[in-house]
Amino acid sequence: YRLVNDSARFLSEEIDNAAALLMVVDVKSGITSLDMEITKNLKKTKRALILLVNKADNEDLSSEGIAEFSRFGIDEMIPVSAVHGRGIADLLDVVTDILPIDTKKTEKQETAYRVSIIGKPNVGKSSLLNALIKKNRSIVADEAGTTREPIHEKMALHKTTIDIIDTAGVRRKRSVEDPLEEIMVKSSLFTIRNSDIVVLVIDASAQNLSDQEIKLMFYTNEQRKALILVFNKIDLIKEEDRAQIEHNLSKYEHLTKRLPIIWTSCLTGKQISRVRETIHKVQLRCQQELNKDELEDLVVSEWNSKPMFHKTIRLKIHGVRPVEAKVPSIILYVNYPEWFGSTQLSFLEKVIRKRYDLRGCPIRFILRKAKMFPTS
Ligand code: GDP
Repeated sequence: YRLVNDSARFLSEEIDNAAALLMVVDVKSGITSLDMEITKNLKKTKRALILLVNKADNEDLSSEGIAEFSRFGIDEMIPVSAVHGRGIADLLDVVTDILPIDTKKTEKQETAYRVSIIGKPNVGKSSLLNALIKKNRSIVADEAGTTREPIHEKMALHKTTIDIIDTAGVRRKRSVEDPLEEIMVKSSLFTIRNSDIVVLVIDASAQNLSDQEIKLMFYTNEQRKALILVFNKIDLIKEEDRAQIEHNLSKYEHLTKRLPIIWTSCLTGKQISRVRETIHKVQLRCQQELNKDELEDLVVSEWNSKPMFHKTIRLKIHGVRPVEAKVPSIILYVNYPEWFGSTQLSFLEKVIRKRYDLRGCPIRFILRKAKMFPTS
């Protein structure tokens, strides 16, 4: 709006300082003379320019919009629907892709990691929180489920401030009608989604992992969050009990073998400092810089050594680009993003984990269609 009213001073300071410009047009009203004027001026700025064709609420409107606005000759056009959220993920991918590394670095320095301590009632979450921050913050009592509300704490950890959230435990859904139980399960899942690192506390004296704990473990993995397993109350168990738990865990080896597992006692203080160190280590691993060329060599050569097909078409990876984020995130430029499923991605994940130390960290893949290469 300001651009229009102030066209004489069109090259405003904001534009000069911007790393990328997002221009929004309305597919429903079509090209207007104002759109044309703005485009002409924005192109002169030599900034990365993305055209957002908004109100593309469905496939038809998307293709219509792309066809109509391609007249503008802007390479990067994304149909979006701000109201329905369509295309926003694509937009974020493109923006991350073109942002200069420096800009992302500055943001990263300010990010604190959110750590959450989750688990069933009475496993020792509050005790662990207290031990980690070395003060009595939450009330610990013998009665199960004393801690109900998430507690936010700042923990000074090797100069990094971390939020600790102790959530109400996940309870078995004994009766669906019980709204409190329902809310508790939901609150744990919500906490996981809002964390960067999840510490799942399990009572080792219970001898086995419950269904809910396994569910939380897989959910955390699905959500691409870092995960640390803590088996607490080891003062109550014998060596053979521990062997039994380890044996039970081996059923989920594909996931657990890449997780840090710590055996603690909040009562005696055993291995508590290890939890603190591990949180820090996982954070460092998550933040490690993956070298683009090295990663690309690794991924492309391993990929080519084991050709994968969708029907008769060979799936190709043309390029790879690590993105700076809270967890290792990698853009894959491929010929058919829609055909890269869990088989392909777990193969790549294995290859990457073999080369880099990513214990406890998730790997997030972002699939993008490679533009500059033939698609078959
Ligand atoms: P939360 O409900 O998961 O937060 O569990 P709490 O921290 O409130 O602990 C529940 C009970 O277990 C309390 O009586 C604690 O004193 C006890 N507890 C916690 N950690 C340990 C431990 O390592 N060993 C033993 N023996 N008891 C513990």
